[in-house]
Amino acid sequence: MNPRPYVGRFAPSPTGPLHFGSLIAAVASYLDARCHHGQWLIRMEDLDKPREVPGAADDILRTLEAYGFEWDGPVLYQSQRDEAYQATLDTLIEKDLVYPCNCSRREVADIAHAGLEGPVYPGLCRHGLSRERKTRAWRFKTDVAHLVFKDEIQGMFDHRIQRDIGDFVLKRADGLFAYQLAVVVDDAEQGITHVVRGADLLNSTSRQILLQFSLKLATPSYAHVPLAGTADGDKLSKQTHAEPITADNAVEMLWQAMQFLGMAPPKYLRKESLPDLWTWGLNHWELDKVPKQQMIELQ
Ligand code: GLU
Repeated sequence: MNPRPYVGRFAPSPTGPLHFGSLIAAVASYLDARCHHGQWLIRMEDLDKPREVPGAADDILRTLEAYGFEWDGPVLYQSQRDEAYQATLDTLIEKDLVYPCNCSRREVADIAHAGLEGPVYPGLCRHGLSRERKTRAWRFKTDVAHLVFKDEIQGMFDHRIQRDIGDFVLKRADGLFAYQLAVVVDDAEQGITHVVRGADLLNSTSRQILLQFSLKLATPSYAHVPLAGTADGDKLSKQTHAEPITADNAVEMLWQAMQFLGMAPPKYLRKESLPDLWTWGLNHWELDKVPKQQMIELQ
């Protein structure tokens, strides 16, 4: 069987400007794609309109450009993909793999046990809606006890998905499609063969693989790079007020991102041009050198 040609991607959410944490995922996915002579696509994950910061999507693209990233093809915007997400949800409805749910958060929280990402839905609506209420979410029937997968950096995982995640939401009661559904539909649509992204998404990976199985879609290979952590052990993010990265110190930031990814770039390159640093990076990228840690505290 011929392996599919490499297609990688970077999928930022426009909830704020790029910061060092997101730069690491961008650099790792870019270098891995280019070193495999693959394509590198950008997908703007602007699904969650209420969380979006106006202007952030353009700002992210301009910053990537200023850092010397070159992407293939047009940017895919999730905000324009509702039809595709609905069609996939309809397929899952036909296959009886999802069900509507009109429980409130409160009702769930009162009786659910704690899981990996909050309360595990106890299945109240699995056999029919249990109360009169118009708005409803759609949940996936998680009937798999264990899901085992290999991460190319972090190793093997055995997720007890039924116990720790439960029946997860694919479409929210407010009509927004959930990240888990959108990412699977779009990775398939864009023909993504290799996902390289931050380790905060390790827990999501088993849900995505489960959806791919259910929809008979190919599963890409997954590699989760360590997150940049603050001194308090939190992930560097918009919530922890990570500084935006700017064009004027692109060489230094890129050098530090390469250093973070285990590449040991020589010191003199801190003073050289962006193209010189990229050339060095393309010649020295090795996925095996990326630290096998889920978070590394920044000094
Ligand atoms: N949009 C997600 C983020 O910015 C990344 C999703 C993914 O790579 O699957 O954290």
